[in-house]
Amino acid sequence: MSTVGSDHVHEALSRTVLLVKQDVFPRLAAEQIVEHLAGRRVRVRADARNVDTAAGQAAVVAMVVAIAQLGARLAIDVPDVHVAGNQPPLRERDRLASGLRDLCADLIQPADLDAGDAVDVTVLVGDTPAFGVTGPALRAHGRAWEGAVAVDVREPAAPWAGSVPFGPLLASEAVAAEVFRAAMADLAIRCGVAPLLEHRIGAPAPVRIPLVPLELPEGLDLGAVEAISGGAITNAALAALLRTPGLRGALRVIDDDRGAVSNLNRYALLRASLLHAPKVDVLAGFSTPGLAIEPVDRRLTPETAAAIGPLAPRVLVGVDHIRSRWLAQELASGWVCVGGTSRMEVVISEHVPGGPCAGCMHPYDDDVVGDIPTISFVSQLAGVLQAHRLLHHATTGGTQPAVVAYGLGLPGPRPLMALGQIPRADCPVRCAVSRSAAA
Ligand SMILES: [Zn+2]
Repeated sequence: MSTVGSDHVHEALSRTVLLVKQDVFPRLAAEQIVEHLAGRRVRVRADARNVDTAAGQAAVVAMVVAIAQLGARLAIDVPDVHVAGNQPPLRERDRLASGLRDLCADLIQPADLDAGDAVDVTVLVGDTPAFGVTGPALRAHGRAWEGAVAVDVREPAAPWAGSVPFGPLLASEAVAAEVFRAAMADLAIRCGVAPLLEHRIGAPAPVRIPLVPLELPEGLDLGAVEAISGGAITNAALAALLRTPGLRGALRVIDDDRGAVSNLNRYALLRASLLHAPKVDVLAGFSTPGLAIEPVDRRLTPETAAAIGPLAPRVLVGVDHIRSRWLAQELASGWVCVGGTSRMEVVISEHVPGGPCAGCMHPYDDDVVGDIPTISFVSQLAGVLQAHRLLHHATTGGTQPAVVAYGLGLPGPRPLMALGQIPRADCPVRCAVSRSAAA
């Protein structure tokens, strides 16, 4: 177990604190925000039935990661059973509860609470009974292709079943978002400051995020896939793909960056003990016999493009840098899916030859300098949605409309809002439809 001191906690939460300061409470000091986030206590409780399947374990692991990355101290109140399916970043030899405790100690703060300790909120997994829970509680439940959060934990819910990870991962990101919204509401009361009005800070509310259900054929082979960036969105997309049963493929990850402590607030597959290595090597370490992850320790630039070689027929773009998105689009010959985040917002879009390209979708280089504010559930939602688009395209050949999601606005009738995609005469990539539009 690594030891985590307060410098580590401050550094690991630095991007989350930046987001809270810029977007929610500009008048609070960073110190006040770190203390509040690191002082939160959250219990994750699952019974034996709900961790009997890979889907249930995916929910438990993903919510522990996303909530631990908010800085909270956790009580891991789950059976210490054998790991079911592939549950990265748990290790093959890990058991569920002890493996999660090792993982938390290797992220921001150790999970040092007991099941009986007082907590700010208890998260129940699937239909785990609320027996004995006295304080605030939420339930993360759903089905294969739908993630949900219930605030009335007495309402009936289904247990997690099967091995499709998408509903479990969505429920986990949504429950982390609701835990965070409640923490911000408490921070407002504790410090006597009002949050900025444009944000929906308040008590947790019910969430339901449905995806297009997919028929996954036995041994689905994606063939060659490219991932531009080994960052947070690619981490989350891989966390979903690596859990997809029987999935095959050869995925290259292109990035020249090394991990940093400030990535521990959002990278779904990272651990503090892996920070010495290139990001692409960390990801390659999660390769399975079916899904090979090939590291390319270079940044994609006009100068390196020739050495990197032609891009695969399907390209996942998870890079923040807008000009890198344009370059990936220029070099791509087939399907491209861009997952982008900005503060609390997620935008996912697909691009095929003959349609509006990634440059039409993201036409301006916002040229952000300095550290970028980020938070776990936003980056991870983007990656899960991107992975779903990849499997949807691989199984149907079709695309879905672009969507925007807002991390603090997941409750409500439309957590994923469709966006139009139009060719732009000023497209920086100068794709074919944009040239026709200009003419
Ligand atoms: Zn274009």
